[in-house]
Amino acid sequence: MRLILATSNQDKQREIQEIYAEFAKKFGVEILCWDKLITPFEIEEDGESFQENALIKSKAVFEALKVKGILTQKDIVLSDDSGICVEKLGGKPGIHSARYSGGGALENLEKLRGEIESLGGISNAHYCACIGISSYMGDYSVHGFMYGQVIAQCRGENGFGYDPIFIPNGFKQTLAELSNEEKNAISHRRIALENALYVLCALL
Ligand code: IMP
Repeated sequence: MRLILATSNQDKQREIQEIYAEFAKKFGVEILCWDKLITPFEIEEDGESFQENALIKSKAVFEALKVKGILTQKDIVLSDDSGICVEKLGGKPGIHSARYSGGGALENLEKLRGEIESLGGISNAHYCACIGISSYMGDYSVHGFMYGQVIAQCRGENGFGYDPIFIPNGFKQTLAELSNEEKNAISHRRIALENALYVLCALL
């Protein structure tokens, strides 16, 4: 079976590969990115939830590969739609996390950091990841969450996106101060991908 990742985000690709390393080895699953099979195209993420956007992505890539005739019956397309939801901002940036500032990842981080500063320097927040799965057996989705707080200072160099200002519950460090292994043990993506294993194992 091939697990085709419908994401061009290299940080997501790396985390998914790390989290699924054991699963891939155990079941002889090849994990590859969609750009190895097809020229990436723009997918309009116009859903109103992480779930809708995850399924928009997995279905679009599955259909494109199917039309090209390069899918086997056992191939599965997996997408990730994720973001951070800040309590004092009423859940923003949420599904708009990747395009919050209209600029790149650093501008998004600085925009949110500045907002937290003007709101007292700290807020409860959570990350959400929805994994979309598209296959000849149908489309599925699962979620994972990680709860904590966002602060108005950037700390640490690891991870990506909003990790320098997010402190998971039970920790004193930001996610960017934790190692990849430590983040992957508790992250929203880890929990969603673990939930996705129930679907994947049924499709094997
Ligand atoms: P998507 O590509 O539309 O799913 O948007 C994902 C965006 O959410 C990323 O570009 C980051 O801004 C944010 N995000 C999602 N997961 C993480 C994470 O694990 N760490 C930091 N930022 C994340």
